[in-house]
Amino acid sequence: MSTSVYDSPVFHMACHQFDLVADFLEIPESLRDRLKMPRRALTVSIPVRRDDGTTTVFTGYRVQHHLTLGPTKGGIRFHPDVTMGEVAALAMWMSWKCALTGLPYGGAKGGVCCDPSQLSIGELERLTRRYTQELIPFIGPQLDVPAPDMGTNEQVMAWIMDTYSLQIGHCVPGVVTGKPVGLGGSLGRRESTGRGVAYLISRAMDTLGIRAEGATAVVQGYGNVGSVAASSLAKQGVKILAVSDAYGGIHNAAGLDLQALNTYVAQTKSVVGFPGAEPVSNAELLLIPCDVLIPAALERQITGENASKIQCRILAEGANGPTTPEADLILEQRPEIFLIPDILCNSGGVIVSYFEWVQDLQSFFWGEGEVMDKLYRILEQAFNQTLQLHRKRAVSMRFAALSLGIKRVWEAKQTRGLYP
Ligand code: GLU
Repeated sequence: MSTSVYDSPVFHMACHQFDLVADFLEIPESLRDRLKMPRRALTVSIPVRRDDGTTTVFTGYRVQHHLTLGPTKGGIRFHPDVTMGEVAALAMWMSWKCALTGLPYGGAKGGVCCDPSQLSIGELERLTRRYTQELIPFIGPQLDVPAPDMGTNEQVMAWIMDTYSLQIGHCVPGVVTGKPVGLGGSLGRRESTGRGVAYLISRAMDTLGIRAEGATAVVQGYGNVGSVAASSLAKQGVKILAVSDAYGGIHNAAGLDLQALNTYVAQTKSVVGFPGAEPVSNAELLLIPCDVLIPAALERQITGENASKIQCRILAEGANGPTTPEADLILEQRPEIFLIPDILCNSGGVIVSYFEWVQDLQSFFWGEGEVMDKLYRILEQAFNQTLQLHRKRAVSMRFAALSLGIKRVWEAKQTRGLYP
């Protein structure tokens, strides 16, 4: 089967990971393409009326990887580097993530190639609504349920919900997750990815016998995932040495004052220039000695070039696909580094999205304590299962997590059979 429409380094990376696991699981050749290739991939043109009266046409995508276990699920990314290949890779990872954590979903991802920081609020709303309009036949609570990702937020989800509901003729909160709480969003959803990252880091620390009090962490990416993970770790006594965003990074060997940093970021929209810290580049930041390194930004940050130079005990992948296969080979030769792979590490977001969807379908809402308890229970189980397989079969944590996810989808496809 031709993969040319998805041609990109990230898609090749996702396929390469799949192929290695397929060999390990001895998945028959006849099933490999069915498991790997997206079920549906849509490209849309999104004409947007600009504030100055001109029109700009943006390109958007939505990829639904498989529908074997339920509706597809995954975020929507607004970023200038979005391509069909990237979206397809992210959709595939969503499939393995949902299967690993036992959610009744296939994976999906969407994206619009744009720079949201260069759009006015009105332009962003028109872009979101027109993109949603183009997706109307392909999304829905039982079909495909979008959510936030890089460059999108609760407000964008509210516009998606509103546009869809107006077309359908009644309020449909279950079409999208990550909504504001007042519109059928779930308590705890906004913090869920970062808190999940912090929870899994604590479990890894327990496993390695590292005490949180006085441990150190470095975070690449200070968005919704990185900033919440950093605050949650700081509450446990972990010192945050350095953080960064798309504009650059900051470092303070004595530890950053996160409260002051959050106030600064709220005002300036960046960590850069924060008083009481030294500037550091995103590349240098990854090499700072620390107990926990958290890449929580874009894909392909830990590479064949820097994997031998990172100096951490725990590598916690808050981002999707931050480590290349070349880097994986190097990390496998560095057993002193404990990896919490992306599909496990950042799964807290989609797990609470699942809770939001369930609450919307039932029109019955839970307290935050209930949400967090249920989240930690699922994370605990996925962490233990991954660790067990990692130890039993002497494979990397990434390999173990992917194997568990891919095997569940494979078995479901086999049991359902091929129609016609
Ligand atoms: N965008 C998030 C992810 O990559 C969340 C997806 C969701 O909640 O559906 O996992």
